[in-house]
Amino acid sequence: MKLTGDIQINGTEGDTRKELALELKEAFAAVSPFIEKHTALVCPDCEHLCCKDKHGRYDGNDLVFLKAIGAELLPAQHDRKESGPCRFMSERGCSIERWKRPFRCTHFFCDPLLKSLENDNAKLYRAFVEYFQYLISVRQKLLD
Ligand code: SF4
Ligand code: SF4
Repeated sequence: MKLTGDIQINGTEGDTRKELALELKEAFAAVSPFIEKHTALVCPDCEHLCCKDKHGRYDGNDLVFLKAIGAELLPAQHDRKESGPCRFMSERGCSIERWKRPFRCTHFFCDPLLKSLENDNAKLYRAFVEYFQYLISVRQKLLD
């Protein structure tokens, strides 16, 4: 597999990769409501918004997933400042579905967000942690 230019996916390897990518997409959808519940609580008061344009840019691993799933890639906007607001930020928060966001957007938990998650119902939080670990393992399999 190469990361420059088009990624080549052939035969059985491609099928498995697509299945893993679909599993990963479902996992993003499963963890998202719990995360969103808490970003809705803590982010409106945040004075150091993490949604900078540099964080909204895909890395090579994001591209492996997006290509495997056959997603249409969102256009890069190279003229934007890395430190400026992310191009996907809207008045109502992030404008794209979680699975289309760079992975770091789902993997990053600042202290207030983490605290908010941990203070939720213990059973819910444990279920979230387990599912999040599952998401990480599926992603790792896809990238291996
Ligand atoms: S996730 Fe944390 S750092 Fe990012 S906007 Fe929300 S409160 Fe701020
Ligand atoms: S893609 Fe969405 S979540 Fe990620 S940095 Fe941009 S606005 Fe924030």
